[in-house]
Amino acid sequence: MSRLVVVGSGTVVPEADRGCSSYYLELGGGRILLDCGAGAVQSLARLGLPWSGISDLVITHFHADHVGAVPGLFFALKHGITPPRRDDLAVWGPPGTRLLFERLAAALGDYLLDPGFPLAFRELTPGSRAELSCGVALSVHETAHTEESHAVRMDGPEAAVGYTGDTGPVAGLGRFFAGVDLLVSECSLTDDQVGDNHLSPTRVATIAAEAEPDVLLLSHIYPHVRERLDVPALVAAAGWTGPTRVAADGMSVALPVEWGRSASGS
Ligand SMILES: [Zn+2]
Repeated sequence: MSRLVVVGSGTVVPEADRGCSSYYLELGGGRILLDCGAGAVQSLARLGLPWSGISDLVITHFHADHVGAVPGLFFALKHGITPPRRDDLAVWGPPGTRLLFERLAAALGDYLLDPGFPLAFRELTPGSRAELSCGVALSVHETAHTEESHAVRMDGPEAAVGYTGDTGPVAGLGRFFAGVDLLVSECSLTDDQVGDNHLSPTRVATIAAEAEPDVLLLSHIYPHVRERLDVPALVAAAGWTGPTRVAADGMSVALPVEWGRSASGS
């Protein structure tokens, strides 16, 4: 079965029931972790997900709410598994990903570069495309957020999944996600609150109208927005009326999505 499970749907703001950004994706036989924000390791265990057997870690950018749990994950992969892990792990990310791990290792320990099993770093420049060991195609597109940040798209035999990471408006992002089954999009703030480095309901609607995903999953919504407003209704009012949900930690979406546009005929 292919699925995406929301491991962490929160933001930098700590919330009792939401961890920082992280998503677990089973696609094409791969066990892919998309971002590993603070709190992700315990959430993976709590949700019963095979944290010790992930095949690929895909990083969108270096903010702590997207990579903060990386040291804890690697410490657990090295010391928290009996018998020790032997399988390869590929770490995919923007240019600078290996340097990030080198700096973490210098501060915290060699286990971040030598966890006791083969570790490969694969840095991707915007516009490039690569293939995971499971055969899933991974593409990246620049985003307007940090110097290194990028969005990712994974095309597998069962479905295609897009994930914005964090971004402001950027040319071509909607086309990059064209035709995905599931689009996980940040929607941090309202139209009148948002700056250049995040998305709002109208910006998400613009991307979704171009991409036409089967399903849009809104995530990384600041709590003061999510708790007071009907965010999917705001996105619909801005022009995207396809199936839209707000992500919650533990939510599992089977792929291809049974309640998507193609299933409903809309
Ligand atoms: Zn960020």
